[in-house]
Amino acid sequence: MSTPLIATRAAGLQSLAAFVPRAGRAYADGRNVDAGPDQPRAVSGLSPYVRHRLLTEAEIVDAVLQRHTLSAAEKFVQEVCWRTYWKGWLQQRPQAWRDYVAARDAHLLRLQQISGLRLGYTQACEGRTGIDCFDAWAQELVATGTLHNHTRMWFASIWIFTLRLPWELGADWFMRHLADADAASNTLSWRWVAGLHTVGKHYVARAENIERYTRGRFNPVGQLNESAAPLTAPPPYARQPLATLPSDDPGTPSALLLTDDDLSAGDLWPAAAPPPRAIAVFRGGIAARSPQPLGAVASAFANAAIDDAMARLRQRWPDSVVVEPEALADTGAQQIRMAEAPVGPGADALPTLPLPVVALRRDWDAAFWPHAMRGFFQLRERIPQILGR
Ligand SMILES: Cc1cc2nc3c(=O)[nH]c(=O)nc-3n(C[C@H](O)[C@H](O)[C@H](O)COP(=O)(O)OP(=O)(O)OC[C@H]3O[C@@H](n4cnc5c(N)ncnc54)[C@H](O)[C@@H]3O)c2cc1C
Repeated sequence: MSTPLIATRAAGLQSLAAFVPRAGRAYADGRNVDAGPDQPRAVSGLSPYVRHRLLTEAEIVDAVLQRHTLSAAEKFVQEVCWRTYWKGWLQQRPQAWRDYVAARDAHLLRLQQISGLRLGYTQACEGRTGIDCFDAWAQELVATGTLHNHTRMWFASIWIFTLRLPWELGADWFMRHLADADAASNTLSWRWVAGLHTVGKHYVARAENIERYTRGRFNPVGQLNESAAPLTAPPPYARQPLATLPSDDPGTPSALLLTDDDLSAGDLWPAAAPPPRAIAVFRGGIAARSPQPLGAVASAFANAAIDDAMARLRQRWPDSVVVEPEALADTGAQQIRMAEAPVGPGADALPTLPLPVVALRRDWDAAFWPHAMRGFFQLRERIPQILGR
């Protein structure tokens, strides 16, 4: 049954504990089935927690590997690493995000000027296309803040190839409504479906596949364009090296800046460092996901997740003052520590800060991101070795 999302680390840990016994064979066998929002699902439902790092990838994989061998839970671990791959890929190709943002904004402008485009877009978003499955999924997304992975693939494919709407508008629609809305996973998955990530390889939704994996809930036979060609891909993006992070003296009086991209940033605080002089929170990355208003579920989840993280930080460091980011220079701090901002709306919206920033990169990201070279395969090959460390 679909249960309302509770945006606390405690709720995330509870979901993780409930999922761990199912992370082996049951996950691998059932992960592609979506029989409807009120039916049991084999997937974990953890992505909103990972997106905001109320739970980290490392602790999820650790919990799973305490119960299963890597080979038994291989499929699940690989899926977690897909997220890592997308993040590492985009971090090294920020131009892909900038191009998406520019094209999205251009299409949003065209919506105001071209009534046919506006009509098709509105019908798709409101679930009034006449394609039953698509319409049900559009409404499910708005109501619940999530869609099953297979359903996201079908949805994006129908959006692009049957409805012939610009993929960037679909990606924006997801960014507004998904509680796990993530610049890397979302933009690059839409590009992948369109055939822009792996050149010439696109994902075409087929009625027979939908019928099989929705367990007969839908069968849009004759309604889909099943012979579409991939979109024409621009030249591949050149990879640029990951930023070298500044060195950090634990003794330097510092403040902590929290953003919705990493709500466990307190864990990165150096063990030898005194408590933060001050803590500030920056919420601007939430609304920056789209120039259009966010859906109620996604917005409520992100804001409540920040409140939960702040409550835990205040408990851990009761003597640290809480101030606005602009006031951090007035607290005696000489620098700001924060989790490295991933490429995306949070980094775009971050204001100029009043002190030097020391970005902290998680060991997980430092180990995996350099392997997000070309395809997922290269990173996947490294999983046993990296986890073995
Ligand atoms: C068009 C499209 C858009 C998407 N947009 C997003 C997005 O904005 N944010 C997002 O987190 N994921 C996105 N995904 C990936 C995937 O659909 C979700 O991560 C997954 O559905 C989350 O459900 P879960 O937690 O039950 O996953 P599980 O199957 O239980 O997997 C465990 C974890 O692995 C990660 N994961 C699983 N599958 C994928 C995948 N295919 N790509 C990347 N990470 C994955 C997630 O962090 C997830 O929580 C998108 C996929 C498509 C096809």
